[in-house]
Amino acid sequence: MNGEPPLGGSDTQTTFDSWRWQYQNRLKSLNDLRPYLPEREVQLLYEHRVKINLGITPYYLSLINWDDEDDPIRRQCIPTASEYTDRQCWQPDPLHEEEQCPLMDGQPVIGLVHRYPDRVLVITTDECSMYCRHCTRRRLWDDGIRHRTPHEFERILDYIRKDDGIHDVILSGGDPMTLSVTILDYMLTRLREIPHVEVIRIGTRFPVVLPQRFYDKDILDVLDRHAPIWLNTHFNCANEITPASREAIMNIRKTGATVCNQTVLLKGVNDTPEKMLALCRKLVSIGVKPYYLFFSDMSTPAHMRTSVETGMNILEEMRGQISGLAIPTYIVDTHLGKVPLLPNYVAEINGDNWILRNKRGIIRVENPQV
Ligand SMILES: *Cc1c(COP(=O)(O)O)cnc(C)c1O
Ligand code: SF4
Repeated sequence: MNGEPPLGGSDTQTTFDSWRWQYQNRLKSLNDLRPYLPEREVQLLYEHRVKINLGITPYYLSLINWDDEDDPIRRQCIPTASEYTDRQCWQPDPLHEEEQCPLMDGQPVIGLVHRYPDRVLVITTDECSMYCRHCTRRRLWDDGIRHRTPHEFERILDYIRKDDGIHDVILSGGDPMTLSVTILDYMLTRLREIPHVEVIRIGTRFPVVLPQRFYDKDILDVLDRHAPIWLNTHFNCANEITPASREAIMNIRKTGATVCNQTVLLKGVNDTPEKMLALCRKLVSIGVKPYYLFFSDMSTPAHMRTSVETGMNILEEMRGQISGLAIPTYIVDTHLGKVPLLPNYVAEINGDNWILRNKRGIIRVENPQV
């Protein structure tokens, strides 16, 4: 089952480094997967779905170790039939995002999720560079892709302009990096004109699956012009951190952006303390702050989910073995908001004495009555 990326052209290195070439040469159909999967698996997939959204760049594909059936990169990008058969976990919108789409003039502001008073999330497009098999928002792309219309973008901007309690705008999707530089620049320009918008974030998986995008000056200039941007990306395993992704992150940071990472806890990808430590250590080494570790939502296929305790155990093991800089906050996300989970470090409260525990032992701390 060996697959080489379909390199073309005479100067393959230059080609491989071109994001347009990477984007255009993504594996996009079941037919494109044929060289990489047993025919039986392809047939099974065809039986369930004729069209499956896929978008695997030759770069991301090249990171797969095909000798390992459970390769963590393969698990994230190559569909399996069980994704469409084991549907006990499969909920289209586990976080009730559609219900939290606000109204303006009696009509929904399509593309907006307003869950917290001070922050909004903008679904700028349904399109992604890769369609991750564990995606929380797969409802957006599983049955076809929609783009925001110019009218929808204007309504989103109007809504944000009118609510001066909104201080933080998250451009998400889909992946906003699939938008043209012109649209992205337009949105950022309009948002920067709104006095109460203090923070702008972009959520994108491009540094992971298509880091070559950030070799180009056009996009870096946009980030620079609207600095400082908070860029949240989505690395899930240490193998995803390569010289190419490192270069992308360094280029992004030079624009004044801060780069944070949101990981989803996934079986076979990052579900042991060793794997999570390796990921977070590498993230910090390339200048990325591990921000959140998300417990998988009810949209993730059953074969990729873990127990809640798996994450607690990982966090417990990390503390003390690695700097706090490398430790994300473990979150169970719900329609009522994010709920952080921490191992319980308070063993007992005894009058003025707090009895605390960690991996190394138990300690009494006197609580001053002030
Ligand atoms: C996660 C999320 C945010 C951002 O939350 P932070 O804790 O500030 O990162 C905002 N809006 C929605 C709908 C979210 O799901
Ligand atoms: S990049 Fe994000 S939004 Fe796109 S498919 Fe992956 S998890 Fe979903």
